[in-house]
Amino acid sequence: MKLEEFQAKKLFREHGIPAPDGVMVTSAADGKTAALALGCPVVVKAQVKTGGRGKAGGVKLARTPDEAFSAADSILGMDIKGFRVERLLIDPAVPIAAEYYVGITIDRKRKIPVMMVSASGGMDIEKVAAETPEKIHFQPVHPERGLRFFEAKKLAFRLFSDSREVMAAASIMVKLWKCFNDLDATLAEINPLARLEDGSITALDAKIVLDDNALYRHPGMEELRLPTPSEKKELGAKSHGLSYVQLEGEIGCMVNGAGLAMATMDVIKHLGGTPANFLDIGGSSNPEKVVHAMELLVSDSNVKAIFINVFGGITRCDDVANGLVQALSGIDLEVPMVVRLTGTNEEEGIRILAGHGITALKDMTRGAAEAIRLAREGSVGR
Ligand code: GDP
Ligand code: MN
Repeated sequence: MKLEEFQAKKLFREHGIPAPDGVMVTSAADGKTAALALGCPVVVKAQVKTGGRGKAGGVKLARTPDEAFSAADSILGMDIKGFRVERLLIDPAVPIAAEYYVGITIDRKRKIPVMMVSASGGMDIEKVAAETPEKIHFQPVHPERGLRFFEAKKLAFRLFSDSREVMAAASIMVKLWKCFNDLDATLAEINPLARLEDGSITALDAKIVLDDNALYRHPGMEELRLPTPSEKKELGAKSHGLSYVQLEGEIGCMVNGAGLAMATMDVIKHLGGTPANFLDIGGSSNPEKVVHAMELLVSDSNVKAIFINVFGGITRCDDVANGLVQALSGIDLEVPMVVRLTGTNEEEGIRILAGHGITALKDMTRGAAEAIRLAREGSVGR
């Protein structure tokens, strides 16, 4: 679970890491009020779960409350890498002398947490990592002993020469490790960690990713989840017993079983099409599930054709057929649909569908090819 900057900064401050204490707002008017309360200048920052907001125009300096209003007004509703901006963080602005990078994550190859720092912090750390990896310094962290102060100091000396700055940065690094470890995070990152003109060191950006599999150990954290529209859709699907992941293609897939769902996506790709989603309706399917699944597919405007691929093992083909008929009776299906049905009770399933004018194929590759063809034609061919 990715946290937004305003949430991560709060957790940083709770762990003793200095970070601006701003206000999260959802309207330009509230942005102006916050700027008045905090005192200008302020920075107006888009709260979206992706990096590169600065470059995309999602971070703006405002010298007056009115500027804060217009900055907020222009950033709200902006699309940043596919994320719509609905929230802003209004932070007191500070005079920056230099920007650094400090982050901690799990090195999966070495199976150990590792802290990374760089004097080339700021907006282009991915470029630094790709083009000049020698500018990033690494320190593995013993998971039980934790990051020791002398290790942090060694890293801090890569960034600073003034001894007070070294001590301040090292102390922040140890706190960042504690924050990472206490929360069962998979990433805790400060970019930029800024040296201000008065020589103090502070976290101007904050990123935390929590390990979903460890969330049960942190009961309060679930409340921090702010799902994006597609995550909302995925969570809604989950509550109906469906595993759904939205993708960007044009063939809507409904499949029983995760393995077959993966294979279906592979076949579509192999034949030159693009799957719009992963959707596993589960092993023992009931008609109601099929109805929900169908609703998910037709609510995706990218979908140009639907491919239903069912292998009846525990799932009975007649159940799926009944579900489909029921779902279609309540939906105005505007895209073509291809059904492949084989396995348990297949004859009955095919008969039920045929009774409603739907032809089912038995071959998966042929079904996928047909769905791709129909998507390209854009014709309604049921
Ligand atoms: P990102 O682009 O999504 O990583 O957003 P950041 O929060 O890192 O902000 C991008 C840039 O905005 C930073 O690298 C800073 O240069 C600048 N910035 C952020 N906060 C302040 C601030 O308080 N004062 C000033 N002068 N610049 C800031
Ligand atoms: Mn940043």
